[in-house]
Amino acid sequence: MTAWRTPANRALLERMLTALEQRQPDAPANQLVAAESMTFNWPNLKACLADSLGCDDETRCQTMMRQLAATDTPFMLFSYQFGTLRNQMLKLALDDGAIADAQRIMTLFEEMEESFAAIYLEIFLNRLGTRNHLRLSHIRALNDKNLLSYFESHLEWMATLIEATRQRDPQGMPELDPNHCKFGKWLSDEGVRLIRDHSYIAQIRELHEAMHHIIAEIDELIVQPRASGPVYAILKKAETYSLELGNEISLLNSIVIMSVYSKDTLTGFLSRRFLDRVLANQMEIAKATESAFSVIMFDIDHFKDLNDRYGHQTGDLALEHLAGIVRDTLRQSDLIFRYGGEEFLLVCPSTKLPQARLLAEKLRLRIEACPVPHDPPLPLSASFGVSEVAPGTYEVVDTRLVHEVIAACDGKLYAAKRGGRNRVV
Ligand code: GH3
Ligand code: MG
Ligand code: MG
Repeated sequence: MTAWRTPANRALLERMLTALEQRQPDAPANQLVAAESMTFNWPNLKACLADSLGCDDETRCQTMMRQLAATDTPFMLFSYQFGTLRNQMLKLALDDGAIADAQRIMTLFEEMEESFAAIYLEIFLNRLGTRNHLRLSHIRALNDKNLLSYFESHLEWMATLIEATRQRDPQGMPELDPNHCKFGKWLSDEGVRLIRDHSYIAQIRELHEAMHHIIAEIDELIVQPRASGPVYAILKKAETYSLELGNEISLLNSIVIMSVYSKDTLTGFLSRRFLDRVLANQMEIAKATESAFSVIMFDIDHFKDLNDRYGHQTGDLALEHLAGIVRDTLRQSDLIFRYGGEEFLLVCPSTKLPQARLLAEKLRLRIEACPVPHDPPLPLSASFGVSEVAPGTYEVVDTRLVHEVIAACDGKLYAAKRGGRNRVV
């Protein structure tokens, strides 16, 4: 790693840095990211290079790389700026006709970049390992894993991948062939039977295969010299895919819950007794996949009047009619509970507040536009409370927290009623 720190290289680099400073003191502004807050702003980058060449320990590089990794600044960005610096030096050397200097600059920068990338990769691997472990702990905390056990094995697989990369050990690599993956097999078998929308299956299959493909070469790469940059890029992408895959598995899991858990006979929705468990699980899943979900509660307006006027049986008919509208409007992966007599609770995975509000508004409009078939047709309306549950807002999931989530949404529903009904808050 330190082979390039020769007195000759140090002298060359110092000479080039001074020459750059004299000839174009303002040059970096247009090409390098000018923001002074950047850890690798121009003066810092130069100082760091000079330092790295001058001493045997890599403390200063490590500090810079640690800061880059800690702020999730992609290595590419550094690499781009580093390349710009190299090009400026090359230009100076070539302008002066110093061909030998130009050649040495090329090799020197390649070696330096690898040494920076190796430090960055090591720090990234540590942080990735920690994040992966945390995700795993949330999946392990689930009451009922169902399909999430596939995400659990995927995260364990990621942990092995991270460790083997850290050790640069191709023997320690996990199974890389997508055909040997249990989740892939589930998808083509049970998945196809379960999911209505086959283009959705195709989409998940594509994501899953892409995930396998991008890491297919990693066991060969890790033993090659100067591969830290590419290895980092692969793992960075693998992490993104990993979260996406977790998200998709969690959506599939909701479809399974909606199809196998026992239902309320009148509406066909999940019975309230599962709510605490399912909601607690969703909160752990949100942590593990770093995605927010939303809860929507709604209650039919003045339903007592309808019952009083047309009888309880007509009231039941109205509830069945409403259930049909709800089912037709939601995604297959939204979880629908009959929360009270004519009060419902929806858990919408991977859904942020604006999306959830739109969904509630769509439901509200449809309910308003479709009266209950009866003579005369009976108009219905409902009031909605919507809240988002963002994974960054809580740490440990317990019953108290789950009840707080429900209470917050109930509070919004109450505000919608107070505000005049037939509205979304
Ligand atoms: P609002 O919600 O707008 O404040 O007025 P509301 O009249 O709808 O009041 P509330 O939500 O308190 O009324 C609930 C009524 O819903 C009481 C009961 O008559 C009726 N209800 C509850 N469950 C059922 C059911 O399973 N079938 C029928 N037919 N009616 C039910
Ligand atoms: Mg009501
Ligand atoms: Mg009610």
